[in-house]
Amino acid sequence: MKNKNSDIIFCTSCVESNQRFVSSISHEDSKNKKRSTTSINNENKCFACRYYEKKIKINWKKREEDLGKLCDKFRSKDGSYDILIPGSGGKDSVWVSHIMKNKYNMNPLTITWAPHMYTDIGWKNYKSWVDSGFDNYLLTPNPKVHRILTRLAFKNLLHPFQPFAMGQTYLPVQIALEKKIKFIIYGDAQAEKCGDDNLWNEGASLNPKIFTYDKLEDLFFGGVNYNDLGKHGISKYDIKPYLPIQKNEFKKFEIHTAVLPYYMKYNPQDNFYLAKEKTNFQTNSQRTDGTYSKYSSIDDKMDDLHHYTWFIKTGRGRCTEDACLEIRNKIITREEGISLVKKYDGEFPKTYINDILKYLNLDMKEFENIIDSFRPKHLWKKENGAWSLKKPIWEA
Ligand SMILES: [Zn+2]
Repeated sequence: MKNKNSDIIFCTSCVESNQRFVSSISHEDSKNKKRSTTSINNENKCFACRYYEKKIKINWKKREEDLGKLCDKFRSKDGSYDILIPGSGGKDSVWVSHIMKNKYNMNPLTITWAPHMYTDIGWKNYKSWVDSGFDNYLLTPNPKVHRILTRLAFKNLLHPFQPFAMGQTYLPVQIALEKKIKFIIYGDAQAEKCGDDNLWNEGASLNPKIFTYDKLEDLFFGGVNYNDLGKHGISKYDIKPYLPIQKNEFKKFEIHTAVLPYYMKYNPQDNFYLAKEKTNFQTNSQRTDGTYSKYSSIDDKMDDLHHYTWFIKTGRGRCTEDACLEIRNKIITREEGISLVKKYDGEFPKTYINDILKYLNLDMKEFENIIDSFRPKHLWKKENGAWSLKKPIWEA
């Protein structure tokens, strides 16, 4: 989980730094692998800001027509599901599902991998999304198994979200195979958020590398090899929902994957208004810990810890992520972004900390020791018993 870059460089257009991890393959041995980080070029522009420069020139009308042609290829004539849409009920899932159903006349099955711990608002939003007119497949993984995996991922990798991310990535493909649905579309906008790497083909589709594997003994879960899961009380049946697809199985039934932000202009604020209009999407009455926003990633109590661990490992947290997206979409300026980051980034996940500790079966001291053991030396200093960033953006 270590970082490849020890020199911290900030993008001069947004508030991103070259410390941000890009998407990785969850089932690899990430404990012993240095993670790739986003590239900032010689002109100090991050990948996503460069993408936005290209985005202005994109012919969206043509892209939307391309999506229409793609849908024509898969649209069912007998009422069976013709597209699978993974989502949580958040603003981006409302966007993608309504567009595919109402603009492109597809017959979607929406699919949800349940959060660790639904927030009240997350559950309400999930319900109103489905109520707005969709068939939905909700899989709640065995909570006993999920807790063990989450605890392992937190202790070994400081990545408590990894088991969730695995389910979220692999389940749609497992279900697509089972139900013989050949088209999966995601609302996720990786290119817009510096998720640059070879796992996304030109921002359009997900590389099969991310959800296929060769041999079971090559797989890792929370830093533990497949063959050692038994020592942690997890059987070969327990782990099934978390498994990627065996390469040869995948080849037998080819699935087309796509991301909607490649075909239609993505704007987080527009998606928020659409979600409000279509599903009565609710936001938190208070801002989320670690940021100023009230409407992104609010369905899982574990989300706040997830973003906090990002901050520990990369020095840039949830506020950086939110501000970057809003700067690129010209909702706020870079200067406003910097002062928001100074104010909120890396805030302790105080709202749900008791639920989180209980879930992970840790006391506060153990929790803090694990957190501190993952602070990279090039990012953090400790003075008079207090940790601070060596090079925060407001001092860069
Ligand atoms: Zn940038």
